[in-house]
Parts: sequence; C-alpha cells; structure tokens
Amino acid sequence: MTEKRVARAPLSDLLSSLPSVDRLVTHARAGDLIKAHGRDEVLRAVRNVLESARAQWRSGKPGGLAATATATDDALLVALLDAASAELDARARPNLRQVLNLTGTVLHTNLGRAVMPREAIEAMALAAAEPCALEYDLGEGRRGDRDELVEELLCELSGAEAATVVNNNAAAVFLLLNALSSRKQTVVSRGELIEIGGAFRIPDIMQRAGAKLVEVGTTNRTHASDFEAAIGARTALVMKVHTSNYIVQGFTAAVPESELASIAHAHGVPFVVDLGSGTLIDLTQYGLPAEPTPRDSIAQGADLVTFSGDKLLGGPQAGIIVGRKDLIQKIKKNPLKRALRVGKITLAGLEAVLRLYRDPASLPGRLTVLTLLTRPAAHMQEQALRLLPGVSAALDAVDLVASAVPALSQIGSGSLPVERLPSVALSVAGRGRAGERNVVLLERKLRASPTPVIGRIQDKTLLLDLRCLRPDHEEVLVRSVCDAASQIGKSR
Ligand SMILES: *Cc1c(COP(=O)(O)O)cnc(C)c1O
Repeated sequence: MTEKRVARAPLSDLLSSLPSVDRLVTHARAGDLIKAHGRDEVLRAVRNVLESARAQWRSGKPGGLAATATATDDALLVALLDAASAELDARARPNLRQVLNLTGTVLHTNLGRAVMPREAIEAMALAAAEPCALEYDLGEGRRGDRDELVEELLCELSGAEAATVVNNNAAAVFLLLNALSSRKQTVVSRGELIEIGGAFRIPDIMQRAGAKLVEVGTTNRTHASDFEAAIGARTALVMKVHTSNYIVQGFTAAVPESELASIAHAHGVPFVVDLGSGTLIDLTQYGLPAEPTPRDSIAQGADLVTFSGDKLLGGPQAGIIVGRKDLIQKIKKNPLKRALRVGKITLAGLEAVLRLYRDPASLPGRLTVLTLLTRPAAHMQEQALRLLPGVSAALDAVDLVASAVPALSQIGSGSLPVERLPSVALSVAGRGRAGERNVVLLERKLRASPTPVIGRIQDKTLLLDLRCLRPDHEEVLVRSVCDAASQIGKSR
C-alpha cells in the first residue's frame, strides 16, 4: 500500500519535501543523539539516512524509509531521526562482542578461550587504570624485570628454577628454538609434528626460527634408538611435543620423557617439552581426566617446558617457558624476547590466576575454567528445567519443540582431545518441514541477538549446551530465544 502511494506522488515534490541536514540536527530529538554520540557522528548518520531516503524514493521500492514519503512534517523528521539513531547504535556497538558460549566447548579458541576469574579481572582493571611497578624494583628504587612479577610463582608451581613469559605458546616455542637451536638441529619424533588450528605447525615454526628439524621414527612408533642414532655434533635440542589435539591409537610406541632426557643429557644437549595446555596441577583430584603438567615434565628431566596461559591454566593469553636458569637467561637475552614480551595487563591477570593455585582445595570454586569443567550434569539439568517453561510457548508458536537432553562437552583448545564431559543441552527440534527450516533460522537469529548466543546444529536439531551458561545469564538466554522465535513468527 505504501509502495503505491510512493509511486503516485511526483518524485520531485517528494524529494524537495525532505528536510535539510540542519533542520534534522537542530530538532529536539537530535539533542539526545548528539549527547550520546557526538556531533560529527550524528551529522554523518543524518546525511546517510537522507541519502537512503532519496535512493529509496527514486527507486519507488518500499524500503524501511518508504513510509516517510507520506508522513506529516514532524513525523517525517522523527522517522528520519529514528533511522539515524538505529544507525548510530549499530555503529557504536563494539566489534568484540560478548557472546553466550553454548557450544559445549569450554576453552573455545574462536570464542576467546579461558574466561577469567574475578581476582584476575580486578588485577587487570587496576593495572590498566593506574601506574604500576611493571619494571621497577621498589626495594632498590631502580629498573627491574617484568618477568619477576610471576617468576617466583611459576617456579613454585612447576618445580623449575626460572621462568619467562611471552605473548602466547606459539611465541614461546618460536623464541626457544631461535635462542637455542638457530642453525643447529632439533630432533623430534615424526609422530609429534603437530598442526594446531590457525596455522601453527611445528615444522614451519622450526624453519622460521632458523632451527633445522631432524625427524626420527615413524608416525606411530618412535624408539630410543631412533633418537640415539640422530643426535650428533650439530644437535642443539631434543624436543618432545605434546600431541594435544589428536591421539595415535593401536600399534604405537613413544619414548618416555625420562628416557629422552637421559639420552639428551648423555650427549650434552638440553631436552625441551612443548606441553601446549599444561595445567599446573593434577586434574584427577577434581574428577577430571589426567593431563600432563609442567611439574611432571621437569621432574622427568626436561630442561625447559613451554605452555599456554589461556588454556587449562585459566588465565590470559600468554606463553610460558619454565626450566633451567642458564637456558632461560639465554632466551631472555635473545632480541626476539623484547619483540614477543607481554604487557602489564597480561602480567596482572597471570599473577592473580597463579596465586589461586596456591590453594588447590579452593580452586574449583575460584578458577572459572575449573568451575565450568567440574560442573556436575545435575546442575545443567536443573538449569534446563528452569529454562524450558520460559521458552516453550514462544518456540511452539513457530513449530519448534524444546527439551532437555544429555550432551557431551569438550575441554577444547587441544586439551584432552578425546575426553568428553557429561552435560545437558537444551535441544530445539522442528515439527515438520516448516519446523526444520525454523531450526536453521533460530540458530541464525540467536547469533544475531544483542548478546549473540552460539550453539550448534546436529542432526537438524539446535543444541545449546548449558555447561558454560552462568545462572545470571539465564534471563538473557530466555529473552533471546523468545525474541528470535517471535521474529521468525513475524517473517512468515
Ligand atoms: C595450543 C598449543 C600451542 C600453541 O599455543 P598458543 O598459546 O595458542 O600460541 C603450541 N603447542 C601445543 C602442543 C599446543 O597445544
């Protein structure tokens, strides 16, 4: 109907009825927009909106601004300013959006890995807001070393002599290889030449670091004799890489760390381990599957161990190297250390998280990652039963049926790739063809929510794993599902 009226009105009249930029920005409603977004932003939005209105009226097609063609003068101004306001809001929205991670993967690399505990968040906010003794020895009143903020804690928790921190674990491996194996050989088992998502490949990192890779053994079996035969005058390191994102099953053999350490030491070369996730404590005490720790590797004779700060450790993105003092010293003297160093906010968060490990008994209640990993399925079941009444009617109206189903969460980020943790998901299935289509639409609309909800579709069903849903986010989830369903209903 609007379309017809627009088409009938003479275009030149219509276009000349559009208000000027000046009239729009001096309208009372524009005052609030200027207060919220600033004058330049409002001018920009108003010009864009006028441009769109002209384009839509010229084309004669009903767009969002078509109705304004027939509006009274003030209603026209308000409609145009409403459109400008919507554009301003969209432009003001941060690009890095908070989301609800209902994927079932606790350490989801694409969703930011570890969610940090309150202690770390407070320390990071303080480090950002105030001057801090980042590289300043308060006792002596002179320049200090930023690594010292966490070195003692890292040594205490890993049993190592020294420690240093860089931007991420890929950087830690890169720096270690460049500092200790440049133009020299590093011996690694063929079964451990891993690729981690996002193009981290051990052979490529080695090459870029200037280290010469010597592969030994086969994909499934590597023996001590393979290492013995490969070590020579040009060998700088023997390296073990934790195969964190896959397992080799069946007819397999790998050389234990203690034996690799003995072989390396007998030839006078260091033995280094890239652990990847490297949780600092034995997870089995919390009923979780076993994952190797830096302390284990150090105890088995590793001279250096590298691991991530934002995987199972539960802290900020960082790469940590612990081990022998003389080797850490050499790594710290490498100019790349300066290029790969971490900032004060990372160090503040890391220190706060490491401090939590001093009291392992309270860790599941305080370290967010561990809280999420140890949540019993019964909690998620109760949560599902709380959520269902709020969403069922809205979903039913668009041929969707929600229920609580058993699900399996994963740890993620290459930790324990085959282990699964029993969980509960809200499952949304479709009734009939229309319902099936709506499952796909619902997933899409939930992703477009003000707080995007990220689930996954499996067998034509949308699964929203509740393991990572905080109780205080339940309301947001219910509202998002209801809004998404009502949008689907309107678009039919
Ligand atoms: C995850 C991982 C890395 C890369 O660590 P980032 O912190 O993501 O840079 C390297 N090696 C192993 C074994 C890993 O699991």
